Amino acid sequence: MDKEKTKYILDENDMPTAWYNIQADLPEPLPPLLNPQTKEPTQLPPFLFCDELNKQEFSKERYIDIPEEVQRIYRSWRPTTLFRAHKLEKALDTPAKIYYKFEGTSPAGSHKPNTAVAQAYYNKKAGIKRITTETGAGQWGSALAMACMYFGIELKVYMVRISYQQKPYRRNLMEVWGAKCVASPSPDTQIGKKLLAEDSNHPGSLGIAISEAVEDAATHEGTRYSLGSVLNHVLMHQTIIGLETKKLMEKIGVYPDIIVACVGGGSNASGMFLPFVKDKIAGKKKNLKVICVEPTGSPSITKGLLAYDYGDVAGMAPIAFMHTLGHTFIPAPLHAGGLRYHGMAPIVSHLVKLGLIEDKAVPQLATFEAGIQFARTEGYISAPETNHAIRVTIDEAIKCREEGKSKVILLAHSGHGHFDMGAYDAYLAGKLEDFEYPEAKIKEALSQLPQIPVK
Ligand SMILES: *Cc1c(COP(=O)(O)O)cnc(C)c1O
Repeated sequence: MDKEKTKYILDENDMPTAWYNIQADLPEPLPPLLNPQTKEPTQLPPFLFCDELNKQEFSKERYIDIPEEVQRIYRSWRPTTLFRAHKLEKALDTPAKIYYKFEGTSPAGSHKPNTAVAQAYYNKKAGIKRITTETGAGQWGSALAMACMYFGIELKVYMVRISYQQKPYRRNLMEVWGAKCVASPSPDTQIGKKLLAEDSNHPGSLGIAISEAVEDAATHEGTRYSLGSVLNHVLMHQTIIGLETKKLMEKIGVYPDIIVACVGGGSNASGMFLPFVKDKIAGKKKNLKVICVEPTGSPSITKGLLAYDYGDVAGMAPIAFMHTLGHTFIPAPLHAGGLRYHGMAPIVSHLVKLGLIEDKAVPQLATFEAGIQFARTEGYISAPETNHAIRVTIDEAIKCREEGKSKVILLAHSGHGHFDMGAYDAYLAGKLEDFEYPEAKIKEALSQLPQIPVK
């Protein structure tokens, strides 16, 4: 393949047919998940997750076959395109070579369908008729709505109230695909009722919406729960992104020096970097630099603690060892709704701890500035979440110019921003603001961490 082309796409028949499981190659195993009541090591609760997903969560098999039916649905938009950002490079006057893998062409507009389709498939196979989930800005809810549509599964989505009110279009997507979507906190659960009694217009948070979806699944027959990020099996399903990219880059004859991705729960970033981190663990690519970018308004890795914490506000979900701002922390109302989670994927936290990947936090205004520069060169309008990764990509490319180095920078482009034009509108009108690290609030939330007896 010509190194100077603008876009690279695998043939459909060359799409990878197995996901990569980093647990086979970790130099140290992940710390166990703990039961929220007993604080003892636990599986995922079987009343929340079907057996196959539970098995994948703890599997040490290096590759897990992608079922034929999942592959068939993936092919509706996969393999996705790897672009060379010639126009952005030129505008930056940089010797860096910038590539981006674009996940915005899925029907839901982001990487999230890669796991949504897999999860809906395994639940269907296990005879599950109904799924519950939470969603922030609606990216995950819409992806799962699409996936449940393909398999004829009923879906109920608890959507963070502030987004439900401010961002109706993704709710409309969910409804078009046949899902039921309610504002969270909702009167449909005990925890929702309790919070609404305290504040009838409670803005909600991802942690609260998770609690509602978990309670609903736990109290309804034939219903399971689904999570769009954070868990090991979710990250594994996303590795299709990195596996496709690696295959393409091998054909072009390049290897990234730097991989940049945004992290909310860590799924799109991991999907991209895990197949490359495999080489770094094997000692083959010691200089590979992986940068996980988060917002200064919700800085789980850069400002949180690496500790055991609950995944949800009610403390019903298993306790995980991860970077956390505290499960009661309610992040600033950032437009990058997908990055407003208090915790981080245990795999991402583990790799940070082992020094295999790095983290960086960037403020909101600088991310929109980068997103606009990207749109005015490459043309694509990116999700506010993705703009975080674009910011650091541009910064690294500028550094290459200053140092006269021609590095290969690979950007994980997680989705388009067509449903986020309100945020762009506010930015262009000068109405957006930066959110600083809310130190006092984080301290308060960190005082609520579960007490885990040291063994
Ligand atoms: C949800 C979302 C994210 C953040 O979630 P991760 O699990 O960290 O990938 C990033 N980008 C887009 C476009 C999203 O929809």
